[in-house]
Amino acid sequence: MRDKQLSRRLQAAAGYIRKGDRLADIGSDHAYLPCVLVEEGTIDFSIAVEVAQGPYERSFKEVQARNLEKKIEVRKGNGLAILQPKDNITTVSICGMGGVLITSILQEGKQTGKLDSVERLVLQPNVSEETVRKWLDQNFYQILDETVVFENRKYYEVIFAQKDEKKQVPSYTEAEYRYGVTLPVNCPPFYIAKWKAEM
Ligand code: SAM
Repeated sequence: MRDKQLSRRLQAAAGYIRKGDRLADIGSDHAYLPCVLVEEGTIDFSIAVEVAQGPYERSFKEVQARNLEKKIEVRKGNGLAILQPKDNITTVSICGMGGVLITSILQEGKQTGKLDSVERLVLQPNVSEETVRKWLDQNFYQILDETVVFENRKYYEVIFAQKDEKKQVPSYTEAEYRYGVTLPVNCPPFYIAKWKAEM
């Protein structure tokens, strides 16, 4: 189902969502990621958040058309601000935006306590991946895995991170911010191709 309904970027993001996660998908312009994860039975509850009216309506209609209103709430709001403690969100995904916007959403969420219950982050920056990794490091997340996908003639990185209660100081190097933490170790298929293309 994933390969038919999700772009490669979103398939890679879906691969990091665990069974039973309570997912908030921020910037969910069609709610495709929550819809597929619920329909395939990976998750039972998700909130699709959209800040813009048109995409919010698209999301709402998609969820209605697939009869998933009991499991997916579509909310109009800015970033994580619309989340409540009772939502018990365990995982936040933010895909298809620039790294600077992703980190500003995370920073605002952190300052307002919206990330308190959140254990894992699935982030797919279109650009400025190093900004995202630096924010994760400075806010004491551990990067568990990263991958690179190639779609529409562009390379996209997907970063999967978990809050690390033991981490008290940043631990990654400038090179890791730029080239990745697990990417140079695991060397997924498009990683070398991406940097060859960059050079
Ligand atoms: N996540 C989808 C994907 O990866 O295919 C959609 C990506 S689309 C390029 C980015 C979406 O994020 C837009 O619909 C935009 O309105 C929404 N967005 C941007 N900033 C946002 C924010 N602060 N809070 C919620 N949604 C936001």
